[in-house]
Formats: sequence, structure tokens, C-alpha cells
Amino acid sequence: MSKLSITDLDLKGKRLFVRVDFNVPVKDGRVEDDSRIRGALPTIQYALEHGARVILASHLGRPKGERNDKYSLRPVAEHLAKLMSAPVQFADDCVGDKVKAKVEALKDGEVLLLENLRFHSEEEKNDDGFAKQLASLCDVYVNDAFGAAHRAHASTVGITKFVSQSAAGLLMQKELEYLGRVISNPEHPFVAILGGAKVSDKIPVLNALIDRKVDKILIGGAMAYTFFKAQGFTTGKSLVEDEMMPTALEIIKRAEKANVELLLPTDHQVVDSYDPLKSKKTIPVEFTNAGLVGLDIGAETVAHFSQALQDAKTVIWNGPMGVFEEKQLGFDEGTIGVARAVAEAADRGATVIVGGGDSVAAITQAGVADRITHVSTGGGATLEFLAGDELPGVAALKDK
Ligand code: AMP
Repeated sequence: MSKLSITDLDLKGKRLFVRVDFNVPVKDGRVEDDSRIRGALPTIQYALEHGARVILASHLGRPKGERNDKYSLRPVAEHLAKLMSAPVQFADDCVGDKVKAKVEALKDGEVLLLENLRFHSEEEKNDDGFAKQLASLCDVYVNDAFGAAHRAHASTVGITKFVSQSAAGLLMQKELEYLGRVISNPEHPFVAILGGAKVSDKIPVLNALIDRKVDKILIGGAMAYTFFKAQGFTTGKSLVEDEMMPTALEIIKRAEKANVELLLPTDHQVVDSYDPLKSKKTIPVEFTNAGLVGLDIGAETVAHFSQALQDAKTVIWNGPMGVFEEKQLGFDEGTIGVARAVAEAADRGATVIVGGGDSVAAITQAGVADRITHVSTGGGATLEFLAGDELPGVAALKDK
């Protein structure tokens, strides 16, 4: 890696500001999924073992620049303390005199978590004054929040202008290493699986994958309907981005020209829009009529996608194959099926990288997470990185 690493820094007795990604689901004051918190533990432990005074900062949800208890990081401080079996102090804000006093009182080997950065609108505006206030809390800065590295915010970019040292944390390094390898030197056959709702979000990554000579692209989720409608299929009431239809046709043409196999679902799970609870059925995609909504891929498609992964040596997956959240109605089946299929590819020796909230939740739900080569903590950041964009939060760090 060309950027300075936390391992290059002298941390003894230093106030170390670590931008972490603790944007975790919290319900009734309890952390529901702590994988992102666990992801940051190696960096925190490393800093403590090297005698730093650790100040942690993160965003949580979208409080829109205002204090909102629903998005408080206090439950995360409690959870982190349990994970570390050590006390974690909490500051009620992330800037200001009271926070400064708390930081001043920190001793070597102690940890302080600041309140949600996004309680201040200046964070997302990458405001210099706010970045300066954050920087004034510390001697050195480390960014370990890969999942937020595609955003140029005060805590990911602005702050680096006002600190003497800015380096990557261990999680950030690990993410860049795995994803960097996929970009620069993937083993073939290289298969990408993309799903989710929006084609528009995935155009840059689709184009970059075609340019990089990925061998196959498997498309599921609502995204597929824009491709179907663009080709003249009836998609009924399924989610389509009409304005993206010309782009979808272009992608199909580009893939053909580059000899990239583009696979779309052959069957899907649909409901009648007038009777969604009772009418669920699986039909071939060409049987879709005007009253139907497609909400998941069918079993035949799962089998086709699994078959397409048989000889894969590199697999990346981002985005659910259906309305994954609707577990009771069973619209998570396609996504779970793909989770099992990518785990089997990993068992056969493929490098498998899974990113994005729903796909990561699916591999956990399917009980296959420990078989996946690398579970990325990034969603948007992973896609932007794979699309070849330099992430602002990484670019801002000091070069080695
Ligand atoms: P994205 O943020 O683009 O990765 O999309 C994730 C969302 O796509 C999830 O909330 C899914 O419920 C949604 N999604 C996936 N497949 C479908 C579908 N067939 N119809 C509607 N929404 C879908």
C-alpha cells in the first residue's frame, strides 16, 4: 500500500483519533449486528498495545445534522466495552470544551468514543472549521472507516489537513489489499454478481468490470427488470428505472463486444399487486403479465447462477437478489441461495469477496460467513473502489 499505515506511527503517549465505521443497526438501545465494531478491534487493540490514548469517532445513520437520541453512539460504547472486556468512556458530543476536557484526562491505553459526528451538519459538508475542531483533539489521525471512505467529509478528508500524521488503520488496509488484488490481478474465471434496487448506482462498476474483462456478470434483484424492460419484456409492476433503459441496452452491447457473459434471471417469484399476501408464485420471466410484481429470483435462476460459479476463481458479490428484508414471505430465498452458492465457490478455492449490507446479512443468515474469503465492511465504498475510483478518504491520507 502506498499510504502510511498505523504500523508506521509512533503511538506511545499520543492522542490518536481513529475514524471508525460504527454505523451499525441499533434497536431499543442494543446493537443488533456488531460486525463493523468487531472489524475495528484489531486497530484499537494495536493502538492500545502501543501506548496510545484512543479517541474513536463515527457516524450512525442519517440524523441530518441534528442531535437525535435514536442515532446516539452510547449503546455502541457499551457494546464495545463488552467486546474488549475493558472500559470505554463516552463523550456526549464530538467537539467542544467538554469533549476537550475528556480527551485531556485520557491516559495511555484508555479509550474514548465520541458522539455521532453527523449530529453536526458540518461533518457532511466537509467544513474546515469543524475539521479543525476535530483535529485539535489529537496528535495523530488514523482512518479505519473503509465503509465511509467514499465520502469526502470532515472526519474522513477535512481533518487530514490539520493533523501532522494521517494513516490507514488495519481494517482499511485489509480492505484495500483484498479489493486491490481483485482490481489489479484477478484470477480467471472472474464472476461478478450484482443485485439490489438501482441500476443507476451500479453503472460505473458494471462498465469497469466489463473493461477489466470480468468473465461473467450475473444480475438479480430489481436491477434485472430494467434490463428486461429495455429488451421489450413485460415487467408488470416490478421496479424499473425507465430512464436507465438506454444505459442497460448499452451495457448489454458492451458486454457482448467484450465477450463478457451477462446472465439475467430465467424465473422469478412474483405476487399479484392486488393480493400480495396470498398470490406468491414462481414463474418464468417471460410469463410476467401487467398485474405482477417480481420480488425475488426463482429456484431455477439460483441453479443457473450456481452453475455459472462452478469454475470461478474470483467472485465478487454486491446487492440482494430480491426483497431480502421480507423474510416472512420468503423473498429472501434467492439471496440466501446465492449466499450458499458463493460459499461453495470459496470451498472450491475461489477468492470470494462479499460487500454491501444485504449481501453480508445474507451470508450471515445462511451461516456461511466464515467460508467467505473477505467480507467487506463497505457497500458504496466497495462499489466505487471496484469501479476504479480513488476513494477520497484514502487519497487524503499521507503517502508512505
Ligand atoms: P441497493 O441499495 O441498490 O443495493 O438495493 C437494496 C434494496 O433492493 C433492498 O432493500 C431490496 O429490498 C431491494 N430489492 C431487491 N430486489 C428487489 C425487487 N425485485 N423489487 C423491489 N426491491 C428489490
